[in-house]
Amino acid sequence: MSYLVFARKWRPQSFEEVLSQEHVTVTLKNAIDTGRIGHAYLMTGPRGVGKTTTARIFAKALNCEKGPSSQPCQQCDSCRSITSGNHLDVREIDGASNRGIDQIRELREQARYASAGGRYKIYIIDEVHMLTNEAFNALLKILEEPPDSVVFIFATTQPRKVPDTILSRCQRFDFRRIPVTDMSEYLQKEASGEGIALDGAALSLICRASGGSMRDALSLVDQLVSFSGKDIHGEDVARLLGMVKTDLLAGIASAVLAGDTSGAIDRVSRSLSEGYGVDELMDAFISFLRNLLLVVAGASESLGEVPETEMKLLVDLAAGIPDVAVLNILRIISSASIEVKRSNLPRVTLETALMTASKLSRAFSLDELPGIAERLSEKVAPPGVKGDGPKPEETVQELEEPVHCVESVPEAAPVEEEGPEPDSGPEPPEETADGPEEGPPEAEESTGEDTRRSSEEIDREKEKETSQQILGLFDAV
Ligand SMILES: [Zn+2]
Repeated sequence: MSYLVFARKWRPQSFEEVLSQEHVTVTLKNAIDTGRIGHAYLMTGPRGVGKTTTARIFAKALNCEKGPSSQPCQQCDSCRSITSGNHLDVREIDGASNRGIDQIRELREQARYASAGGRYKIYIIDEVHMLTNEAFNALLKILEEPPDSVVFIFATTQPRKVPDTILSRCQRFDFRRIPVTDMSEYLQKEASGEGIALDGAALSLICRASGGSMRDALSLVDQLVSFSGKDIHGEDVARLLGMVKTDLLAGIASAVLAGDTSGAIDRVSRSLSEGYGVDELMDAFISFLRNLLLVVAGASESLGEVPETEMKLLVDLAAGIPDVAVLNILRIISSASIEVKRSNLPRVTLETALMTASKLSRAFSLDELPGIAERLSEKVAPPGVKGDGPKPEETVQELEEPVHCVESVPEAAPVEEEGPEPDSGPEPPEETADGPEEGPPEAEESTGEDTRRSSEEIDREKEKETSQQILGLFDAV
């Protein structure tokens, strides 16, 4: 027997086996059990989530010799021939390659004849949105006066391209992407049945790369078995997919957080010269920053399965970094990633965003945070409650509460700049791209409490001005 790919071998054969689409399968089962069978159904949703599989199971349920039954027997001739795809009354048509009016007219002629022995004549039209307007019109004529015992099941990834006149004659079912946890569990189970070992990192990467499409995930497992045998690790998946290496991403993140603009740009150059696209690099960097943010915020359990090596990089990077710093970088890179898709010079957009992010990081030094936190906690504390703010040498961990207060500062001022004296601060981490508008950070202790209070407004204005100047500078690049 010829080799069967996993996507076919592991294809669900009953409603119960269809993963994560209970809202569809339960409704269809009830329709069968109560004898409320319509003439047209529309299955919509992303690719590879079970639309045509469900359509086939529905066909089987309708035509099972012991049915109609929501639990087709799988044994009778009808069930077996539908499973093998050669039932005379169940026709699958690919809308993309049969999109013309002639094909639909032919279908209309055929639909008039009685079934070849099955209870229902079932037409499954995949990618129905690909039909031409004339073909849709011809289809509409059948739907307006459907022959008895004919059931149409349309599947599409783009329901918006299906005319309203067709939509309004269909019962519509929206399929969801398959959640990572469901997919991961399913893959693990099916793979181990085949003697294939997938480690946690591999599972996590496969699920991420598949974007919720089970078919994509299964194709990937197929490819991985050919690529690295039956013992599959995270590194194999990363190599096969040409994923941007996490140590490269960690290097870029670390440079940006340290305000090391040239270091960040250098690493980007290196990544691009290794063949990664700007889009790809940005998407990978955004995912990495998101993971870093979760680790920094102490929400690591929301990460799902992350390869051990990546986890170690994240934990190392996260030490001593406030969540607001990562959040700011993530915001800048995310908005730039939208621009990148429209830009003729995506690399410039990426580099500009990294410069902006590292300059914002650099505009305040991490050493300063205890002072910033103290100042902010004073701002938000009720009158008379004067917390003895944390001292500069305390760890960021101990500052969790005050640091969170930073988020309550208006968005225009993500960067903290202390006091009116621009010269008394510690040295910035690197000598790169110094601008007069940026002003090095100042030491907290040099600002007396009274001065601090009286200069609050000045501080705010200065913060706003600095952010705008930095952003303006890079808009001009
Ligand atoms: Zn049967």
